[in-house]
Amino acid sequence: MKPWQSVAYGLVVLTMFVCVVLHEYGHALTGRKFGVKTVDILVSPIGGLARMNKMPEKPIHEFYISIAGPLVNLVIGSFILLVFYLYNGKYSLDLNSFDLDKPTEFIRILAPINLTLFLFNLIPAFPMDGGRILRSLLASRIGKVKATRIASGVGKILAVCFIIFGIFDEQVILALIGLFIFMMAGQEYDQTKIQAIISNTKVGDIMRTSFTKLHLSDTYATVIEKYHRAGEQNFLVFDSLGNLSGTVPELYIKDTIKNNAEEKSVNQLMSSKILRSEPDMFLRDVIEKMRNEGVAIASVEQDGNIIGVLDRNGIENFLRLKAE
Ligand code: ZN
Repeated sequence: MKPWQSVAYGLVVLTMFVCVVLHEYGHALTGRKFGVKTVDILVSPIGGLARMNKMPEKPIHEFYISIAGPLVNLVIGSFILLVFYLYNGKYSLDLNSFDLDKPTEFIRILAPINLTLFLFNLIPAFPMDGGRILRSLLASRIGKVKATRIASGVGKILAVCFIIFGIFDEQVILALIGLFIFMMAGQEYDQTKIQAIISNTKVGDIMRTSFTKLHLSDTYATVIEKYHRAGEQNFLVFDSLGNLSGTVPELYIKDTIKNNAEEKSVNQLMSSKILRSEPDMFLRDVIEKMRNEGVAIASVEQDGNIIGVLDRNGIENFLRLKAE
């Protein structure tokens, strides 16, 4: 290979990268139309990803957002195809027909690249856009969770076909794509199921009403004893007047055990971040707040009284049971 040829291949990879970014902008700009903000756009060797702050509620919005990316590639590819066809009277999509000596060939090769990106992304399997398109079409009739289960199943079947065909036909890349799709297929379903559960459960439904109240003067020896005995991992701390003054998360307890610092008092080592919730708040909203503020336990209050607690471990156990 001559040196300029490797430069030429480098330029092809670069233009491909630009097309992947434009594809993601297709998703991002359509998302913005429906009030969905894009956090950032990631580009990796296996494709791009526009990370959005939330998924659209309405299936039709998800449909438009998902199809917008592949459509960008279809438009670029078709436009180049058309221009060269009108100019030369013919066009070959055969990749071997490209002569990278000529500058115009860089533009011409974008046609098959974009048409491949268009078709590849339409494969009806998560995490490809095609999986989301299929899910959104089904969701308007049978609901999001069921639709995701079916779309995820279709993806798995396709993945197995890719793997089998890839092995028998010695198409390593196809087999690897199949393997990747198979591994990712279940993930979208699990996430959707959890999203549905936390959007429909209220804090009052899963809060723990019996909980240990720690005092500022308690030593960690007491905390550790309660930690081992009561099956509670995170605690609320109260002052002598009975006001909530902080929390002891499991992380602090584990650290204290590791460092043999049991003589320390709660007053010396506690988190002063307090998160208050109410029984009729949705679990989704409280989880978001706990995550944003890095809090492991929240109080549940009604009319100024603490009637229960909600902690990370409790939420995890609930979701594990519920999602099975
Ligand atoms: Zn896409």
